[in-house]
Amino acid sequence: MEWKGIGAAPGFAMGPAFLLQRDEVKVERRSLSREEAGTESKRFDEKVAVAIVELERIRENAKQKLGEQEAEIFSAHILVLQDPEYIGAVKEKIQTEQVNAEAALQEVTDSFVELFESMENEYMRERAADIRDVSNRVMQRLAGISETSMDDFAEPVVLLAHDLTPSDTAQLDREKVAGFATDIGGRTSHSAIMARSMEIPAVVGLREITAHLKTGDYLILDGQSGIVLVNPQPEVIREYRQKADQYAAQQAEYKKLKDEPSLTADGLQVELAANIGNPQDAVGAVRNGAEGVGLYRTEFLYMGRDTLPTEEEQFEAYKAVAETFGKDHPIVIRSLDIGGDKELPYLDLQKELNPFLGYRAIRLCLDRSDIFKTQLRAILRASVYGNIKLMYPMIASLQELRAANRVLEEVKQELKRDKISFREKMEVGMMIEVPAAAIIADQLAKEVDFFSIGTNDLIQYTMAVDRMNEKISYLYQPFNPAVLRLIKTVIDAAHREGKWAGMCGEMAGNKTAIPILLGMGLDEFSMSASSILPARALLRKLNKPDMQSLAETVLQMDAAEEIKRYVEREVPAVKE
Ligand code: PEP
Ligand code: MG
Repeated sequence: MEWKGIGAAPGFAMGPAFLLQRDEVKVERRSLSREEAGTESKRFDEKVAVAIVELERIRENAKQKLGEQEAEIFSAHILVLQDPEYIGAVKEKIQTEQVNAEAALQEVTDSFVELFESMENEYMRERAADIRDVSNRVMQRLAGISETSMDDFAEPVVLLAHDLTPSDTAQLDREKVAGFATDIGGRTSHSAIMARSMEIPAVVGLREITAHLKTGDYLILDGQSGIVLVNPQPEVIREYRQKADQYAAQQAEYKKLKDEPSLTADGLQVELAANIGNPQDAVGAVRNGAEGVGLYRTEFLYMGRDTLPTEEEQFEAYKAVAETFGKDHPIVIRSLDIGGDKELPYLDLQKELNPFLGYRAIRLCLDRSDIFKTQLRAILRASVYGNIKLMYPMIASLQELRAANRVLEEVKQELKRDKISFREKMEVGMMIEVPAAAIIADQLAKEVDFFSIGTNDLIQYTMAVDRMNEKISYLYQPFNPAVLRLIKTVIDAAHREGKWAGMCGEMAGNKTAIPILLGMGLDEFSMSASSILPARALLRKLNKPDMQSLAETVLQMDAAEEIKRYVEREVPAVKE
């Protein structure tokens, strides 16, 4: 069987499927006879015992991989299952009310959770989540869903999930996950972007693959074409092994360009930078020949945890990235861009109908200046360790830009007062990802040091197409004339003010887009680490004047498909 989705991160993954299940069990209340209630209570005891054994195993694993402290959470979970008040209350309910274990467990859990959540003490409130978590585990065992672990497989698995949040993706274990496939998502969903940084082959937007496959099915995943093959014949496996070998050989060829400059055929130098999400990615970026960081998505520092990162933690992370690259390489740190598909549960933000149009990024930072200032302090402090630049996301008006700069100025004054050093001349730029900003780029260019075009959002807002929605992904068109014209407007506006213009949306690493962008005069291309060397190989075959006339021609065309076909015909190297 063959499934076709959206190729999200290139490469081939082959291995057993591992279906990530996190559906809650539907509980029905059933009355029992006195005798049945006795057996039910024993059944409950057995499942609790199974859950404890599982948790002990998870705790051991966590201790080895993450350390003693991180493993403690599982000790707390085990204690919940050994708590006579909690477990005793469930058993008593089974006996006295003569009900099934699932119903008794749910009712007792609900009352415990309610009690803990109403407590003043934050520590106790957090225990409510532990109880919920642990009861889900027991509930699954009662429902006959056994826990298969990735550890049960000798080889790395292909992970199948309805969706993976960015923080799920960040926590994937490269040794155990050969690739992943999801029902929903698009090429610019953040889990797809992260897969490219982490160099994990991935296919997204497969619609309902998880409803049809099961753990243990053998899969071949092609992250380039977006194809997933299920239980293929041996000859097909052989064919794909060959393809994977060819891919590896091509990657090895690219690696030879790692320390070469990013020059066009006529000797023009452009900058090829990486998009990163954490200091670890910076190491991968250097390995892939990045000349700097064009986008550090700092929000990942805030995710997968229960509290905001401190100034010190942030400072250490920013400094680590600067040190990985060395003093001269530019590191563009973007201030917090939370919202959209990047959630922070501990901020307790209201659910919104249109999160991509909502309370996110700079809007949240200007409202929560406590969070914003802590981050700006950390960035400024790190600025003495490298060529760090600050960039604001989602700016839609001059007023927002000025407001952000006012907060920055306040933070600078505070640091001066405290005699803490920072680089006074740190460049400050902004992303162009809202069409309004692109249209007034001439005004904005006067008040920034640089622009970086965020096409992931710019396309979604220009075309009014949700970047996460696979049903309308046909409208998500980087080559749409409207998008290309906006990009040109932005680059020209920057240049007229003597400023540089970069691009950190995924389009910057798209081989068919690169000739057009070069022709339009883009100065910096920032992309997933894995796209850098293929982009460098392509640039070496391009000639600036030719690309300028190519860009002029495509700007007069009226359809995305026509533009793509034209570039592919004129510049065959984009298909290599
Ligand atoms: C963009 O919108 O193009 C961008 C780079 O930001 P993000 O993908 O994090 O929204
Ligand atoms: Mg964006």
